[in-house]
Amino acid sequence: AQQLAGRVALVTGGSRGIGAGVAIRLAREGAAVALTYANSPDRAAEVVRTITEAGGRAVAIKADSASEAEVIASVAQTVTEFGGLDILVNNAGGGRWATIDQASLADFDQTFAVNVRAVFVAVKAAEPHLREGGRIITIGSINGDRIPVPGGAIYAATKAALDGLTKGLARDLGPRGITVTNVQPGPVDTELNPADGPIADTMRGFMALPRYGSVEEVASFVAYLAGPESSFITGTSLDIDGGYGA
Ligand code: NDP
Repeated sequence: AQQLAGRVALVTGGSRGIGAGVAIRLAREGAAVALTYANSPDRAAEVVRTITEAGGRAVAIKADSASEAEVIASVAQTVTEFGGLDILVNNAGGGRWATIDQASLADFDQTFAVNVRAVFVAVKAAEPHLREGGRIITIGSINGDRIPVPGGAIYAATKAALDGLTKGLARDLGPRGITVTNVQPGPVDTELNPADGPIADTMRGFMALPRYGSVEEVASFVAYLAGPESSFITGTSLDIDGGYGA
């Protein structure tokens, strides 16, 4: 049976990588899926096509997570398009890596805007629509707990901030039967962090399982957290990292 039949999901940054994998997986579980993108309209359309060709429902919405207005509009459009909202997946993220001598205040502000501020904005816009059983799932990073190389101070700080945001939001929304979780992947093979990229061997050296995770492995975990069987999990960061943080 499709565990998300009748549910509506919004996945930010669903045009590529982990977000695309999550969108496809949630749709396979029966959810109607809205996905946002910033710079990759063709890739977003491809994800929508993959979902609809498999019999699912999906829509792509252009919304830069750095823009409060565009994030709010993407939530509103999802509700209009599919008649509600049950699952918010805050996935869009990234940021320039630089050591402190090279990092700028603009890097700091931009990375926090996309990785943290956009999550606050999306949750605030989505929250009035969420019903009992609603789910808020954010894609943080194991780098929020462990940053074993130079250059990731800003990125690590944004991902650590999501742990606190998750805990507090879980307290705010728990009385309404809505759960809030933060998923912390380790190295996952995407264009952001390719398994054959220049830092990949170093990353594998930090892991108990010396290999990159796949988008599908993360999407499967998110599907579980989005579904009815995860109903007692909230206010916590959950690692899916091949033992990178061990
Ligand atoms: P990718 O770079 O492969 O994909 C990023 C996705 O986010 C794209 O769909 C992109 O859309 C979208 N995106 C980026 N910036 C914005 C923005 N400002 N507004 C809207 N959408 C945006 O990254 P991953 O899939 O690897 O990463 C996804 C999440 O997982 C991020 O939060 C990342 O920090 C986290 N993560 C990744 C790990 C990894 O090893 N890959 C490990 C741990 C965490 P578009 O191209 O349209 O702009």
